[in-house]
Formats: sequence, C-alpha cells, structure tokens
Amino acid sequence: METVLFLAHTEVDGSLGKPALEALSSVRALASALGGARFVVGLAGAEVQPASNLLAGCGAAEFFGVAGPEFGPSRYATDAAAAEALCKAAQATIIIIPATARWNRVIAGVAQRLGGRVDTHVTGVSAAGTVISVSRWYYRQRMEATLRRAQRPWLILVEPGSQAPWQGQPGVATVREVPVALTEASMRTIVLGVRQPLGDAQTIRPEADLLFVAGAGWTKKQADGQPHVKEAEKLILDCLKLARASLGSSKSLVDLGGEGQAILSFLTHLNQIGQTGATPRHPKGLATCCHGEEPHAVGWRFVNERRAINLDPNCGWARGKADVLYVADAFAVMSKVNQLLAQGTA
Ligand SMILES: Cc1cc2nc3c(=O)[nH]c(=O)nc-3n(C[C@H](O)[C@H](O)[C@H](O)COP(=O)(O)OP(=O)(O)OC[C@H]3O[C@@H](n4cnc5c(N)ncnc54)[C@H](O)[C@@H]3O)c2cc1C
Repeated sequence: METVLFLAHTEVDGSLGKPALEALSSVRALASALGGARFVVGLAGAEVQPASNLLAGCGAAEFFGVAGPEFGPSRYATDAAAAEALCKAAQATIIIIPATARWNRVIAGVAQRLGGRVDTHVTGVSAAGTVISVSRWYYRQRMEATLRRAQRPWLILVEPGSQAPWQGQPGVATVREVPVALTEASMRTIVLGVRQPLGDAQTIRPEADLLFVAGAGWTKKQADGQPHVKEAEKLILDCLKLARASLGSSKSLVDLGGEGQAILSFLTHLNQIGQTGATPRHPKGLATCCHGEEPHAVGWRFVNERRAINLDPNCGWARGKADVLYVADAFAVMSKVNQLLAQGTA
C-alpha cells in the first residue's frame, strides 16, 4: 500500500501558488487511479494554517505542517530539513511536489537523505493496478518516456504548467505540527530581500495566454533598404502591453546584441525559446519575423496553437510547424493588430 504525500511550500502571502495546486491535481488523480488510495498533505512555511484551510476540501486524510519564521524564506538548509521531516512524519512512499525553483534545488538532496529516488520535470503521474508510472520529456522535448521505479520513497517533481490546478472550497483543516530541530548553522544564510524588474519591464509572463515571439527579422533591412528597430520595439512592447502577452525570442535575435548590432533593448537570453532556450507553456503562440528553424520551433512543443507571420512563404513555419502562417509584413500586421487591441475588438 502506498502513502502519497503532497508536499508544498507556502508563498510570501501565506497562500499556495498555481504550481502547487497543479501538483495537488496529480496527487488526486494518482490516488483515484490507485483505487481511492489515502493521500496526505505536508506544508512548509512561515505559517501553514491559512494554506491548509484553502485545501480543506481536497480529500486529504491528514495535514502535516512545518511552520515558523525560519521556514518563511527560501533557504537550502531549512527547506531540506522541513521536507525531510514532513516525508518522515507522513511515512510517505510516493511524494508529489511542485517543481518550483525553491523545491527544485533541494529535493534531490532530500531524496538522498531519505534513501529514496527522485524524478524531475515530470509531466504526468498515472497508475495501472498498483504500478505507478511517471512521464517526462527528453532531448529538448522531442521524446516522451514513461518510467517506473521500485525504490521508495519516490520523490516526483511535477512540472508547472502541465496540469490543471485543483480548485475547491476552503474550510478548516486540522494540522499536525511536525517539529524540526535546526542548528545555528542551518540558518547561516540570510535572505536580505528580493530584487525583481518593475511590472512593465517584466516581459516574461508564464501565466500569459499568448506567447509573442520576436525573430531577427525585426532588426533586418526592410523594403526601403533601412532597418526600423525603434518602430519594431514600439510595436512589440505595445502588443505585449495590450495583449498581456509574454515575450519570447529566437536565438539569432538575442545573439545579435553580443555581436554589437542594433537589437531590441528589452531582450535578454532569458527570452530565448528553443533547443538551447526555454520551453514555455502557453495556450497560444505568435512568431513574428522569425524563420521557424527546427532548433527554435522545438521550444514550442507545449504551445497549443501556433501562428506565425513571415514575408517568406517558404519559411520553416510553412513546412508544418505552425497551424496558421500569415505571409505578410509583420510591421503592417502588428500595427493593425495593436490598433484593434486598443479598440478592444481583437
Ligand atoms: C545547436 C543549435 C541550437 C540552436 N538553438 C536555438 C534555440 O534554442 N532557439 C532559437 O531560436 N534558435 C536556435 N538555434 C538557431 C536556429 O537554428 C535559427 O538560426 C534561429 O532561430 C533563426 O532565428 P530567426 O528566425 O530569428 O532569424 P532569421 O533566420 O534571420 O530569420 C528572420 C526571418 O524574418 C523574416 N522577416 C524579415 N522581415 C520581415 C517582415 N517585415 N515581416 C515578416 N517577416 C520578416 C524573414 O523572412 C526571415 O524568415 C540553434 C541552432 C543550432 C545549430
């Protein structure tokens, strides 16, 4: 008999993030596939009662909590100690965890301490009878594998964006407090603060419905023999603002900066999509002035509806990589799209 633990940390405001609620959906789906298996919740954070109350209706048999100001900030030593204590208190054999940046860096170490095994970037957890499998992608999302493990405990980090988040009514949960003995050394690292770009400067928005991808064409000479980089910047930023879209880029475009060429000032390598870049998950994607080469398009694996605008009817997108290709001038198309978005008619 497996004991399934949902392990999560609270957010700064004491709530749970979307990745946690997604991982909880995986836990519930697994428990049901195992014929109604028992599952429990383990939360770590400055305070865990409010978050436990949010999950009161999720069907968990028990709630465990590691709480205290020392568990508020992300810190390897205290996060690992909290996770280890929760797994032990729950006597968990299967532990399902949201793959947040915070958990990603500690869970392999926790698996080592527990004598267990860990799998990362998991996009599905299922069971046939009592046999549990996880699926994940390899070789930059080109191949999907299904894995099983006999070793327990098995710690499974579920990729954010891969599941529908759990939704349910809050209530009042009874939380069993799990003590953790910390040494002075485990609190040596102090988080002084968080620095992040201001609202509008933030171009990467994982929650956005639309991924807007800019290619190197935006900086190339246009029909009049001149590049129009400033105009391109305005069209792209306006679209991001009006559509609340996230900004991706091709490798060629971000690399141009390093080669001293005129580029879009707000782009960094973090925007790069593809084989050597990110694989974001958005319902829709629009590639503009970008050729749609295989190493770029592979990053679009989890974008559901893909469209592209390119002057070249023989570009890579035309060879089956986009659902819709507009053979058109992206400057003209985006200017019209922005106009419609501003009027609220697009
Ligand atoms: C090992 C390896 C890994 C790689 N990894 C990645 C990766 O992770 N991500 C990535 O992006 N690339 C990656 N690449 C590079 C990739 O193969 C492509 O070279 C790159 O993505 C092409 O960028 P691009 O389409 O922006 O530029 P270009 O190939 O220069 O294409 C520009 C396009 O803009 C169009 N255009 C110009 N003006 C207009 C206009 N007014 N309206 C509409 N269209 C216009 C042109 O027709 C052209 O198709 C990798 C390559 C290798 C070899």
